[in-house]
Order: sequence, then C-alpha cells, then structure tokens
Amino acid sequence: MKAAVLYGPHQPLEVADLEVLPPREGEVLVRMAAGGVCHSDLHVMQGHVPAPFPCVPGHEGAGIVVEVGPGVQNVRPGDHVVLLWRASCGACYFCSRGRPALCDLGGTIRWTGKLADGTSRFRKDGQEINHFAGVSAFAEYTVVPAAGVIAIPPEIPLEKAAVVGCAVMTGVGAVINTAAVEPGASVAVFGCGGVGLNVIQGAALAGAERIIAVDIRANKLDFARQFGATHTVLATETDPVVAIRDLTGGRGADYAFEVIGRPETLRQAYEATRRGGTTVAIGLPPTGTAYAVDAQSLVLQEKTLKGSLYGSCVPARDVPRLLALYQAGRLNLEALITRAYPLDQINEAFAALERGEVARSIIRLA
Ligand code: NAD
Ligand code: ZN
Repeated sequence: MKAAVLYGPHQPLEVADLEVLPPREGEVLVRMAAGGVCHSDLHVMQGHVPAPFPCVPGHEGAGIVVEVGPGVQNVRPGDHVVLLWRASCGACYFCSRGRPALCDLGGTIRWTGKLADGTSRFRKDGQEINHFAGVSAFAEYTVVPAAGVIAIPPEIPLEKAAVVGCAVMTGVGAVINTAAVEPGASVAVFGCGGVGLNVIQGAALAGAERIIAVDIRANKLDFARQFGATHTVLATETDPVVAIRDLTGGRGADYAFEVIGRPETLRQAYEATRRGGTTVAIGLPPTGTAYAVDAQSLVLQEKTLKGSLYGSCVPARDVPRLLALYQAGRLNLEALITRAYPLDQINEAFAALERGEVARSIIRLA
C-alpha cells in the first residue's frame, strides 16, 4: 500500500510502498478515505516540533474499519470512523476527570511513534517506520488504537468527517469546551486557517455577538466572513489590538483566541483581551519558545491565559455532537474543504498551505 513517509525536517514527503502488519490486541486496521492537511504536520516538516522519524504523518482523517484485533469492542469491520490524534485509556487521572486529551496514552504514542505495545505496524523494505500521533492519515491503510477511533453514521461523507478529527474538534472545542463562550460575548480570532475558521464558526454557534477575525491575508478574511466573522482586520494594514479595542467599546474582547502559534500574535491576543477576559492559546509555537506576560497585568487586570489542546474534547461526546450539527446544517464543512489532492501531490498540498491559499485541504486516499 502507498503512504507518505517523512524522514526528517526540511525534507519533502516521500510517497512509497509500505507493508502494513495486521492489527494486534486493542488495535484496528482502517482503510483511509481522506487525510486533512493541518499546520501541525507542517510544523514537524519545518523542524518547529519534534517527531519520531521516519514516520507516516497526518493526524486528521476518516476511513472504514477493515479488521479489528483481539479484544476490540467499540467498532467492527465495515464501520465508518473518525480518527483521533490523542487516544485515551479511559481510566487514568485525566480520563476519569473528563480530560481524555491529556491522557498519557495519546502523548506517549505521539512522542514515541509506537502503538501501545511499543512497536510499529509499518514496514518499508523490512525497516520499521513509525506512526504519527496514533493516526498516520497519509496512508491507504493505517493501524490505530481502538481507543483512537469513533464510529460515525455511514451517510456522512468521509471527506467531511475527516476534518472533524482535528480542525473542527480543535476550533469549535476551544470555544465550547475550553473557553465556554456565552451568548452575547465578543470574540477575537487571530489566524483564519483551517483551525481558526472553526473557532469562528464555533463562536457563531455559541451565540457570540461580535466575532473579529484577524489575518495577514485578505483571502483568509473572505473565508472568515463566510464562517460567521462580523468584523475583519487585515493585520498588515491595521494594528489588530487597536482595531479590536475600537470594536469593543475600548475594552478589548471578552475572549481572544490565538490560532497561529507565534509569540507576537499571542501577545497581541493577550493585549486585545479585556480586563477579566480570557486569552486562549491554540496555535503551537516552536519547541522552546518563551513568551513573557506582564505579570502585574495578570493580577491587576485579572486576565486568564489558557492553553487548549484538541479543543479540550471528550471525543465520544463531541464527535457525534459535531457531526449532528453538520447534519442539521449548523456547522459548515462544505466551505471548509477548498481543495483535494491525490497522495502523490502531498508536497504541493503542504506548499499551498504554507502559501496560505486554502481554508483546509485534504488528501484523497480512496
Ligand atoms: P493554517 O496555516 O491553516 O492557518 C494559520 C493562519 O494564520 C493563516 O491563515 C495565516 O495567514 C495566519 N497568520 C500567519 N501569521 C499571522 C500573523 N502574524 N497575524 C495574523 N494571522 C497570521 O494553520 P492551521 O492548520 O489552522 O493551524 C493553526 C495553528 O493551530 C498551528 O500552529 C497548528 O499547529 C495549531 N494546532 C493546534 C492544535 C491544538 O490542539 N492546540 C490542533 C491543531 C492545530
Ligand atoms: Zn491538526
């Protein structure tokens, strides 16, 4: 079967023939339908974030279960599934407190590139190739933990379901779960890519009165309006902090989301947050990036600065909820996917993401 392999940072992805071994206990073999092109993979390719090389990247996707290993209860062959990039054990401190995205299991799989038993199911010419985030979406077939799949109704197009696996869950989840934005709130969103557009539509769903979208590219602001932004700020022309304060009675936004991964824009988001408001960091800065906060402002302005991993999701609750909203016409997945590429054009797909041309693109695998 064909898969994209990443041997290290600053290298193109290599589409190669790989062998995929059968699923072991608690694992599932999935025939992939589509994999989403997320900036988190691009961060790895650019050397901003480490990964267990060589690996098959891609952490957003959906497909059909082909085979299950011993002990798998939650899915059967033929089930349509969304893949999760943080599998969780269901029993640890974090899982038992409703925070499965923080479970050790998913983190260990992410950083080692091995499944739960410490080995990989991918081989190339006999050499072991690692998994990525327990998903490895850029493959015709992948083996994933059973705890890393959620069965979905078969009538939902798999290409739409794929983007729920990261962009939609992360963006909408950050609004609904992490920040718990209330109706009537003012929201600022820095970065209108695949994830940021879902923060925008999440804020619209939550009933935010004012949704101010910030980007350095005009085409992204056009997308932002389609997803519910009420105001847009082109940051190359207008200081976004000043603009957001002007649009919020001089106070700043109740909630500001950073969805880029840069310390400068995190600072802007913090400064654009009103006294007593909440700044949410979603964008992933390069490893080791420090960000200085005016410590006094934290106290005197009583601001909250918080991170959001995977939209603070509970997948078994949130995947069905998001898909039901899509089926009810309340969540826009049609306009989100602006391009689809075949696997052998995957490097072009990442180049287009880097050039800022797409809202979200997918790699079509079946
Ligand atoms: P993307 O490339 O599609 O979007 C980033 C957007 O930021 C682009 O529209 C770009 O034009 C804009 N931008 C760049 N510099 C800017 C600046 N100085 N001011 C304003 N806008 C600017 O990326 P994406 O796939 O949407 O991912 C966004 C970020 O979220 C990445 O850092 C990614 O790694 C991270 N991420 C985090 C999680 C999580 O769980 N926290 C999950 C997925 C992705
Ligand atoms: Zn992602």
